[in-house]
Amino acid sequence: MFEIKTTDLAGRIGKIRTKSGLLETPCILPVIHPVRQSVAPKEMARIGFKAVMTNAYITLKTFGKVAEEKGIHKIIDYDGIIMTDSGGYQMLKYGDVEVTPLEMASFQEKIGSDMAIVLDTPTGIDVDRRRASETVEITLRAAEETLKVVRAEETLWIGPIQGGSHLDLLKMSAERIGKMAFDIFALGSPTEVMESYNFDLLVQMIITVKQVLPIDRPLHLFGAGHPLTIPLVVALGCDLFDSASYMLYAREGRYLTEFGTAKLDELTYLPCNCSICSTHTLKEIKEVGVEERIQKIAIHNLSVLLKEMRTTKQAVEDGRIWEYLGMKAKAHPKLWEAFHSLINHHYEFLEDGTQLFKPRAIFFYEPHDSMRPEVLRYHKRLIEDFSVKKKTLLLLPESDVKPFYKSPYYIKLIEALGAGLEKVQVCFLSLPFGVVPVELSDVYPLSQYLSSIELDYDVMKEVLKHVKEFIRKNSFRKIVLLNHLDSYSPLFKMMASSLKNCHIIDALSDTNRSFEKAFKKIAHIIGAQC
Ligand SMILES: [Zn+2]
Repeated sequence: MFEIKTTDLAGRIGKIRTKSGLLETPCILPVIHPVRQSVAPKEMARIGFKAVMTNAYITLKTFGKVAEEKGIHKIIDYDGIIMTDSGGYQMLKYGDVEVTPLEMASFQEKIGSDMAIVLDTPTGIDVDRRRASETVEITLRAAEETLKVVRAEETLWIGPIQGGSHLDLLKMSAERIGKMAFDIFALGSPTEVMESYNFDLLVQMIITVKQVLPIDRPLHLFGAGHPLTIPLVVALGCDLFDSASYMLYAREGRYLTEFGTAKLDELTYLPCNCSICSTHTLKEIKEVGVEERIQKIAIHNLSVLLKEMRTTKQAVEDGRIWEYLGMKAKAHPKLWEAFHSLINHHYEFLEDGTQLFKPRAIFFYEPHDSMRPEVLRYHKRLIEDFSVKKKTLLLLPESDVKPFYKSPYYIKLIEALGAGLEKVQVCFLSLPFGVVPVELSDVYPLSQYLSSIELDYDVMKEVLKHVKEFIRKNSFRKIVLLNHLDSYSPLFKMMASSLKNCHIIDALSDTNRSFEKAFKKIAHIIGAQC
């Protein structure tokens, strides 16, 4: 039913098989009202949406038996993939609905829903523990009962996870739902968290459930229709999203951009090229009637969401979701904060889906990029799997030429010291990878990266920590640093003052004479001929 094609960080690109066709994930489903639609589902299909979500509870209340005869595809006049929500939202808003979970389950099957959600009781945010626990139990009971009565094999059933911001309840709820035979899982209550820009809590909620759910089934996130949250929630491994935001924003005259929302009145230009923005001026959009304006902004908003989803998917495909997320995170301080808390505390979660080999080089811009799973994974493996018998470590600054064994001064060094060099372990000092033994320097990604990280105090401390670990693990007795890049001097001085038996040899000018003198000194220290 669900096939995963590629992964990056915890994000993945996959395919869900539904009775109305294949659905590539991650995928956003616009929410449409079964009766009143400003943007018709056929228009959504024209924009490029392969699936929509509609409300089975409102369908039941409006059409009753007629809906069972016609089917949901005819009711909303859409032959793509339809997910139906079952009244959970109404439950959250009004406290109760007039149907039971079993009635909703059987109704969703009868109307031919492709993906159907158990009638849950959403926890919401800012509720006390007692109430949260109650919503979890009611939802779990509804989930169990629903699975007992569902008949139609072609409908994919979605098991909702509740608990809200009470992470222990959320975990327990995910553990229990994860053991049930649902085709898809869904995380409830994040809409309010996102609306209040509490992205840090959103990250914690998603990681809490992802860590206990079976990885072979998709996770739906209720309501994530914002261009800022899409890369974050995709990178965390959410596969499906629904969103009514495009319409709610349109009603308030809010125009989505790649980096947030803007009031139509605040804009001077239309920073977009969708079918609306490329055929209308800002003035024209402002001057049309209210309903038409809502429709036009809604179509624009949908186009922005779809573009964001496609850009994010391409980043996963290219193995560059980290770079993309880092870039997007700067659009809002709260998002930046959440990104940092994610990379500081959840290394293993992010490492699992990070490919060992990527189709492209990886880029480093800022100190936090040295927290990438590729770097931390390398550090771990270097310490665990690589050992050296030699007792002298010769450390050279990295070069622009990669792999490092092809760097001109390393070649000069081999020419000058010849067999004498066999007595020492030659390593390069890379920002951000730390110690790179020459024999590993062509292994991915040690020669497939570009970095503009500057050597500030924090970066130096991290590098020094890594070097010390490598020295301790291999019990080197003598350390020789060849300093031929002026920019490395502060780091080498820091090393010399904190490492025992450490010699700095300067060759700070690029002349042959300067190198010859330096090589002679190295030969003397390691007891070789030069
Ligand atoms: Zn537009």
